[in-house]
Amino acid sequence: MANSKYEYVKSFEVEDGLMQSTWIVIRIDGHDFQRLSLVHEFMKPNDEQALNLMNSCAMAMLEEYPDIVYSYGFSDEFSFILKKTSNLYQRRASKIVSITVSFFSSLYVMKWKEFFPQKEMRFLPSFRGQIFCCPSAEVLKDYLVWRREDCHINNQYDTCYWMLVKSGKTEGEAQSILKGSQKQDKNELLFQKFGVNYEKLPIMFRRGSCVLREKVEEIVKYNQVGDPVRRIRKKLIVDHFDPDWPSFWKRHPSLIN
Ligand code: ATP
Ligand code: ATP
Ligand code: MG
Ligand code: MG
Repeated sequence: MANSKYEYVKSFEVEDGLMQSTWIVIRIDGHDFQRLSLVHEFMKPNDEQALNLMNSCAMAMLEEYPDIVYSYGFSDEFSFILKKTSNLYQRRASKIVSITVSFFSSLYVMKWKEFFPQKEMRFLPSFRGQIFCCPSAEVLKDYLVWRREDCHINNQYDTCYWMLVKSGKTEGEAQSILKGSQKQDKNELLFQKFGVNYEKLPIMFRRGSCVLREKVEEIVKYNQVGDPVRRIRKKLIVDHFDPDWPSFWKRHPSLIN
C-alpha cells in the first residue's frame, strides 16, 4: 500500500509520454488475418461482411473515444486519429495502444455474430497497435494518402491474383504472372482477360472506408405555429475516400484544426 518500501520500483516504469500538440495516430492491424480469413472462408479478394464488421467496430471506437476525430481503414487495419490537443491517458503510448487495441478486439468478437450469424468463430482474432505522432497537417495528410495508396496497391494485386486463381491458375503461376507488373498492366490484365473494369468495382473495396462525425441538420420539433425547429447534430458516418484531396480537406476542415 502507500509508502511501502517496494514503491521505489515504480520509478523503473518506462517513460512513454507522446509529444504535445501532435496528432496521435493509432494504427491497428489484425494479426495473421490471412489465416483468419481462410479459416472463416472469407470471400476473396474482398469479403464485404468482414469489411462491414471492421467499419462497425471503428464506429463504436468513435463513440467510445470522443477524442478520435477521424478514422480510415481497409482489409484488417484501421487508423484512428486523435485531435491534436487530446490528453487521452495522459498521452502515454503504452496505455493508449493497449487499451484501444484490446477494446477493438473485444468489439470484433462481440459483433462477429451480427455480421456472420452462420459462422462459428474458430480462430480468435487479435490485433497489434502502432503509434505515429504527426507534427504537422502536412504529415498527417501524407500518412492518410500513404494508407490509401497501400489500400489501392493491395486491392489491385489481390483482385488480379484471385481472378487468376479462380480461372484455374495455381497460386505460383498467378504470382509469377503478376511479378513486376505495373498498375496499368494489372488494369489491362483485368480488362483483357476477365472483362473487368477495375474502376467499376465497389468503391469500398478500391478506396477503403473512413468513419467520421459529420454535422447534420435535423428537425427536432415543431413550434406552436408549425414551423420546424432545426439543430445541428454530429452524426457518425461511413464514407469512402475522396481521391480529390483538396476538396476532401475543405469538406472536413475540423480534422486538422
Ligand atoms: P500480419 O499479422 O503480419 O498482419 P496478416 O495475414 O494479417 O499478417 P496483412 O498484410 O495484414 O497480413 O493482410 C491481411 C490479410 O487478411 C490478407 O491476406 C487479406 O486477404 C485478409 N483479409 C482481411 N480482410 C479481408 C476481407 N474483408 N476479405 C478477404 N480477405 C481479407
Ligand atoms: P483503471 O482503469 O484505472 O485500472 P479500475 O476501475 O480497473 O480502473 P483498479 O485499481 O484496476 O481500477 O481496480 C479494479 C477494480 O475492479 C476494483 O474496483 C475492484 O473492486 C474491481 N474488481 C476487479 N476484480 C474483481 C473481482 N474479482 N471481484 C470484485 N471486484 C473486482
Ligand atoms: Mg494483418
Ligand atoms: Mg493488414
